Amino acid sequence: MGFTDTELDSAAQAKLAGRVVFAFIGKKGYANDTTKASTLRRLYSNRRDAGAIAALMIPDEEGPATFQQAQQIRRNYSIDKGVMRMKSNMPQVQPSNIHFLVSRVLAEEVLRSSGKSLKQLRVEALQNQKFTPIFIDDAIVTIHAKVIHETKQTENVLALLPGSDPILKAQVVAFTAHYDHLGKTQDGVIYHGADDDGSGTAAILELAEAFVKNPVKAKRSLLFMTVTGEEKGLFGSQYYVTNPAIPLHQTIADLNMDMIGRIDTLHEAHKDTNYIYVIGSDKISLELDSLLQAANAESEQLTLDYKYNDEQDPERFYYRSDHYNFAKNGVPIVFFFDGIHADYHKPTDTVDKILFERMGKMCRMIYDLGWKLGNFNRLLIKKSTQE
Ligand SMILES: [Zn+2]
Repeated sequence: MGFTDTELDSAAQAKLAGRVVFAFIGKKGYANDTTKASTLRRLYSNRRDAGAIAALMIPDEEGPATFQQAQQIRRNYSIDKGVMRMKSNMPQVQPSNIHFLVSRVLAEEVLRSSGKSLKQLRVEALQNQKFTPIFIDDAIVTIHAKVIHETKQTENVLALLPGSDPILKAQVVAFTAHYDHLGKTQDGVIYHGADDDGSGTAAILELAEAFVKNPVKAKRSLLFMTVTGEEKGLFGSQYYVTNPAIPLHQTIADLNMDMIGRIDTLHEAHKDTNYIYVIGSDKISLELDSLLQAANAESEQLTLDYKYNDEQDPERFYYRSDHYNFAKNGVPIVFFFDGIHADYHKPTDTVDKILFERMGKMCRMIYDLGWKLGNFNRLLIKKSTQE
């Protein structure tokens, strides 16, 4: 079959119905790259051919992706632990999603009648621009597999502070942060997620309390929402935007806080705690960015760092937290973000490392911006209508 990314013409594709597909592990481009990162990338790669029963991955003869080593890596990185999808958009799981690692001995055995060896085929698959798959009709593969479906239930947590204006109260400013994180390892080691996103979640509570305590209420309603399933694929916010409590066209903006309690490695050297990366604030409405700058100037005067605002940035942070589901639906957003530090997505992201002074600054500045949005005399003008 070639590698996991080998493309087939429609005739070959049609012939796959009911068959088992054998392929060399990983994408062709990484096949001879023995670095750990590339090996991992290869092991995560899979074939999903419509109609095929299963994909069987053939390990390398030598290097870091031999049968034994690939098996070990798949175990260590829980590559086989399955995928989580939202029920509402979960298609019937296709048998073709089933994939296994097979031994080269078995693959060689199946291949025997073709008169080709794995070695030969691998060279062909690597060298030729177009690799023609071999169809073997005289081998029957029996696979015993148990597919376990588990349904997990979870929830977003929403609180609404009604606005004071009889008309504008139908509109909201959304404040979001995700309360889920990575759980535990198989050995019970906890991923605390103090910064990611305990910091944002705590900020939501602080902001809600501050707005409630203010005897003067904003004209618009304020929606405080901690969302679930961010780490699994922005599920909570995706659910919200398809089932919004307040219509999205009535949502003036979403202010998303995902990691606002630490500083990143770039700022660690000179202990600069007075910055925040702002992402997306000028993408949908330039007015939102202006309001952000004004709010910041009037409050904490943080350094608003737009480094990651570039959509071409290789880290693609704009697409990586819950605000993106709002942005996709045309709601102006700001994503407030520390950047990446050494404890990112590690069990060592603990509360003792949180810089509470910094969090206080973030909250006061975001409060100010929320207040401006809550009282702005109209919805924000969006870019498409400005241009
Ligand atoms: Zn996060």
